[in-house]
Amino acid sequence: MGKIVFFCIPAHGHTNPTLGVVRELISRGHQVFYYSYQPMREKIQATGAKFLPCDAYDPQTHLTPEDGERVGKDLAFSTQLLVDMTLALDDAVLRDMQALKPDVIVADSMAVWGKLIARKLNIPFVSSTTTFAFNRYSSKVIGSSGGSLLSLLRAMPGINRNLKRLRARGYRVKSVLDIIANDNTTDTIVYTAREFQPCAETFSERYAFVGASIRPVASPMERAEVPTVYISMGTVLGSREGFYRACVEAFRDRPYRVILSTGETDLSGSVPPNVQVFSRVDQMAVLAVSDVFITHCGMNSVNEALYFGVPMVLLPQTPEQGGVANRTAQVGAGLRLDKTDPASIYAAVEQVLQEPSYRRAARAMSKAFRTHHAAAEGADKIASVMKS
Ligand code: UDP
Repeated sequence: MGKIVFFCIPAHGHTNPTLGVVRELISRGHQVFYYSYQPMREKIQATGAKFLPCDAYDPQTHLTPEDGERVGKDLAFSTQLLVDMTLALDDAVLRDMQALKPDVIVADSMAVWGKLIARKLNIPFVSSTTTFAFNRYSSKVIGSSGGSLLSLLRAMPGINRNLKRLRARGYRVKSVLDIIANDNTTDTIVYTAREFQPCAETFSERYAFVGASIRPVASPMERAEVPTVYISMGTVLGSREGFYRACVEAFRDRPYRVILSTGETDLSGSVPPNVQVFSRVDQMAVLAVSDVFITHCGMNSVNEALYFGVPMVLLPQTPEQGGVANRTAQVGAGLRLDKTDPASIYAAVEQVLQEPSYRRAARAMSKAFRTHHAAAEGADKIASVMKS
């Protein structure tokens, strides 16, 4: 049986889809070692994998708030952090890998240190992608590639300095694209259905589109007699209190059941009885009985909604979520919300419910998603790389 090493970033949206795959691998008799961060420890250990903390090596855990703002926007700075992280991990992880002799390394597409370490040690590698697969074709649908190319060119001198630091320590890297993007020769798991991936036909057979990672419903809910509207802005965005309060007003005294997942935001006060507010819900249970989902367009949330055939009102907050919103609108399963006053929120929900095309498109996607079993297909992909 094989030894498999996972690397991930400290984000639930990137970690959650891998957990079913890890469970499946362990049930097949493999051993899994998972490098991640303390906030993820419990859920990783619950799969039976051995948790290995990376927090101490990550320069991002000691950033000033100003530097934190630069992450993801300033490409030279982001590259420096990735390189710092890789070099900080270098000694310890290389020692671990030499002792463990893993059969394969699986790394989140943003945990690039996993990919670099695999390449340095010639260990078979699988990329795990919780966003859409990205190439020059899909980037046209997902979002603007012009702006990012421009920022890449501007950042070039700083990036090259950092790539030299990697090469000096034995890491083979040609360019920054080589680190941050996958090409058609990289074995890649993508957690969505082929039918939802933009330009799916431009990706090689090395890409496995395994569908949404669906958790079992923990506490099933009843359908209501009136339409159910589910509202969530995901787990990463900070408080959106103004928006949640606008939602409450939009549905006050209307014949709807509203389920609002607000994270840390406290909405106590005048919430009407048809609106139920939770800090966190069993999203699978809620989607199974929802008629429309107002979403920030996190990739997992949208995949899950499509799995359950629930049409959406789209309110993306980041460029990545904007790409997911574009694709959802393109397949006809969602309507973008431009204004967030109560009347606009209500009108958008009404439109999605009244026009059958949204539900029809969401149900067509649901059919595609339901042909998949992400955990088993992800595990198959990893196993196939181990054998070869
Ligand atoms: N989620 C949940 N309960 C909630 C809110 C979110 O279980 O009340 C889960 C949701 O099912 C999804 C994940 O948290 O799997 C959010 O991931 P997504 O990629 O949608 O957004 P992010 O939180 O990364 O912005």
